[in-house]
This record gives sequence, structure tokens and C-alpha cells, in this order.
Amino acid sequence: MARSTSPDCKQCRREGVKLFLKGERCLTKCSFDKRPVAPGPHTNTRKKVSEYGMQLREKQKVRRAYGLLEKQFRLYYEKATKSKEGTGWALLKMLELRLDNVVYRLGLGSSRTEARQIVNHGHITVNGKKVNIPSYQVKVGDVIAVKDNKQNLEMFNVIKGAKVSTPKWLEMNTETLTGKVLALPERDDLDLNIQEHLIVEYYSR
Ligand code: SF4
Repeated sequence: MARSTSPDCKQCRREGVKLFLKGERCLTKCSFDKRPVAPGPHTNTRKKVSEYGMQLREKQKVRRAYGLLEKQFRLYYEKATKSKEGTGWALLKMLELRLDNVVYRLGLGSSRTEARQIVNHGHITVNGKKVNIPSYQVKVGDVIAVKDNKQNLEMFNVIKGAKVSTPKWLEMNTETLTGKVLALPERDDLDLNIQEHLIVEYYSR
């Protein structure tokens, strides 16, 4: 699946927030911590950000955090507008329920990018069947697991038996490398500070 080719750390600097796109490295050697300014010339110039600018940045921040191209993100937005529960939250919920995000939130990938590769490479099953579509929407009750014949890969060996922290809507057994969707995510389960009304305003212009 197509994804942004912009360097990961540059994306964080552009959005002015750590998006945790590089897994472990984000916790140890983060270039945003060293240089928390936007890329390009005149980075120290303070400019008043317009309303449009704020809406655009919020949309870009969320799009980049979930590793989506504009066209894919826009399609999620279009679907969200048809939801009864409010466009902003419906959009975020669909993003959160993507299989690659769930694999990341279960601790099977150190970043959403790595989780997407894990899914793309066919290492994951949902309810016992291989699913290699990162955008697959999981449902309550789904069981997400590492395929039996992939459990001994180095990337999974390091997770076996380890303590992982998952949001309350997910449950993870690191002995069997199996996770379960216990409920739908709630607004306070997100790991990013998001003002979704700005995204809705951006697309409503
Ligand atoms: Fe780079 Fe990760 Fe830091 Fe972002 S959070 S700047 S991707 S190291």
C-alpha cells in the first residue's frame, strides 16, 4: 500500500509534535527533542498561524500519525460524515480500528509503520484467518494473533512474555502473541492529543 515518503522525523518537526513514527528510536534518540522546530529556512521566525493553518496542521498531524496519504484520509472523512455519532469522532474511531493500528496498540509492532509491514507481510491472523490488509476494520470480539509459523521470528521473540501496555479496549497475551478486541475505543483511549473539530472544519470549508 502506498505511504508517505517524507522522512519520519521531518514530519514530526513539521507538525510540531512527536508522532512516534520510528518505534524504539523515538524513546531514545529523538531528533524532535533535539530540534523541535519546523524544517526549512526561517524556522525561528514566529508567525501568527491563521485559522486555516491550524485546521490544516491538525489534519496533517493525524494523517501522518496513522501513515495515510491524503486520498485515503479523505475517504475516511467522507465515510465519517455519514455516521450518526459525529464526524470527528467517527473519523478517529475508524482510524483506531484499522488492523495495522491495532497490531501497533497491542505491542506487536514498535510503530504504526512497522505494524503495517507486519500485516502486509502476512504475519497476522484475525479469528484464525490470515489478513494482510492494513486498513481492515476490526470488530469487537475479534482475535488478532501472530501466525503460528511466524511466532519464532526475532521481532516477535523479543515480545514473548514481556509486559505490554494496551488501551483498555484491547487485551494482549504476550505468551501466545494473541490479542482480543474487548470493546470499541473511547475518546480518551487515543494516544495523541487531537482536536478533531479542526479537521472537520478543514474539510467543511
Ligand atoms: Fe523522529 Fe520518532 Fe522523534 Fe518523530 S518521535 S522526530 S519519528 S524519533
